[in-house]
Amino acid sequence: MNEDRLQVVLIGAGIMSATLGVLLKQLMPDARISLFECLDKAAAESSDALNNSGTGHAAYCELNYTPLQDGQVDITNAQYIAERFEVSKQLWAFLKEAGAISYQDPFINAVPHMSFVWGDENTDFLRKRYEAMCKAPIFQDMQYSADPAVIRQWAPLIMEGRDNTSVLAATKMDAGTDVDFGAITRDMVRYLEHSEDVEVQLAHRVVDLVKQKNGRWRILVDDVDKKTQKEIDADYVFIGAGGGSLPLLQKTAIDEAKGYGGFPISGQFLMCSNPGIVQRHLAKVYGKAEVGAPPMSVPHLDTRIIGGQRILFFGPYAGFTTRFLKNGSFLDLPLSIGMNNIRPMLAAGMRNRDLTAYLIKQVMLSSEQRFKSLQDYYPDAKPEDWTLTVAGQRVQVIQRDKGGGGVLKFGTEIVTSADGSVAALLGASPGASTSVSIALDVLTHMFPEKITSQSWQQTLKKMIPSYGESLIDNDDLCLATRARTHAILGLS
Ligand SMILES: Cc1cc2nc3c(=O)[nH]c(=O)nc-3n(C[C@H](O)[C@H](O)[C@H](O)COP(=O)(O)OP(=O)(O)OC[C@H]3O[C@@H](n4cnc5c(N)ncnc54)[C@H](O)[C@@H]3O)c2cc1C
Repeated sequence: MNEDRLQVVLIGAGIMSATLGVLLKQLMPDARISLFECLDKAAAESSDALNNSGTGHAAYCELNYTPLQDGQVDITNAQYIAERFEVSKQLWAFLKEAGAISYQDPFINAVPHMSFVWGDENTDFLRKRYEAMCKAPIFQDMQYSADPAVIRQWAPLIMEGRDNTSVLAATKMDAGTDVDFGAITRDMVRYLEHSEDVEVQLAHRVVDLVKQKNGRWRILVDDVDKKTQKEIDADYVFIGAGGGSLPLLQKTAIDEAKGYGGFPISGQFLMCSNPGIVQRHLAKVYGKAEVGAPPMSVPHLDTRIIGGQRILFFGPYAGFTTRFLKNGSFLDLPLSIGMNNIRPMLAAGMRNRDLTAYLIKQVMLSSEQRFKSLQDYYPDAKPEDWTLTVAGQRVQVIQRDKGGGGVLKFGTEIVTSADGSVAALLGASPGASTSVSIALDVLTHMFPEKITSQSWQQTLKKMIPSYGESLIDNDDLCLATRARTHAILGLS
């Protein structure tokens, strides 16, 4: 093996590292890539199907992506997210066409996305949102109805047993999808494992990263089973450790990491696998979030398709824990607090009293109260058909602001060293759906010159035909791209 070639280390076998690894393998076939995962299985944290909602977030149904401003619905962020999801589907279509991933049980399935609200204020908002969105080609084919009979046709469960006097409205996008992010991640990790010069080491925990005088990173890795430790030197390191990214970023001691903190939020879903119920609902029905709720706590009644089996999910219910990962330690939060982030963290806590109040309310929910919120969406739901399941962990990012205080960020943050040799991904939303665009952003931070080179541009275009072009401004390209990827992925 030629030792002069670039060595890249990826930390974590979730969707983010897997996606970055796949892109890197195409862009730099000669580079050596080592991927370390502390668990004995890839995608066993947030990326696993039962740990997230599996919504292909394209902003069709998530009302929090379209805020009401001065009486107008702003769809800018929704278009941005929808475009990024189109990018993800293009890479997945490329991998499928190339035979790089198995597609026996499709990891992505067509499941209509619906928004569903009640009450005058909310129905008025939904109508305005629909009027603003249906003009944009990326949301073409969105349907709106305030007619209970039509909504019943779209999603019978949400109408059964409902009081006929309420004012209701819904929108529906047939282009919506359910995605088993765990399956596509494991497929990509398997592809990497079989690629030349890539080593995937499960049950290997990265415990430290030290920048050496020669500019390379020395990474200390514990072999979890053998209880031994080894070192590996790398030119580039990507910290895609999900909730575990913040502690590792802090270990790099780069200036850019200072002032970052994390606030963990756990989640739970109610799950139903009774075929008599499951077969009567084929939609992801998103409602209106409670005041203070973080973006991923919007209630929704979802069809999930996991390993070819259909089930229903409702939730998520938020909770509080001090763990950063489902398999993490209760010491994660206390150990992440230090002199450089205590002030921003306290300031963010003071500023987000609505979130604190929301979390306290969620943690205090009795099982009856929890069930009652399901009945807001499925009035005839019976407790015996539903079981509670624990979802993945989210670590909301807290960032120091200019005044030395702190802001709570709900999106995804890429923190990169000035020389681009290390990058870490913090945060959770909109998450796995936009993983391909996030990985492209990471590449831009780490390899700013290479990404503009002709060879990289050509390779990127091969994988993502719309790369470099706007799907928001170019109507024909947007519709042609969606038609092509949906045909390849069987999403018609
Ligand atoms: C309740 C919930 C609902 C969600 N719903 C959606 C949704 O509907 N749609 C959507 O697009 N996104 C959703 N998300 C977000 C999405 O799941 C995440 O954004 C995405 O899975 C993050 O992927 P990741 O690779 O960064 O992290 P992960 O999948 O968590 O992977 C990180 C990996 O790093 C490993 N690791 C950690 N520390 C170390 C270490 N020191 N050494 C080695 N390995 C380490 C972990 O074991 C893990 O396997 C949801 C998340 C949650 C929690």
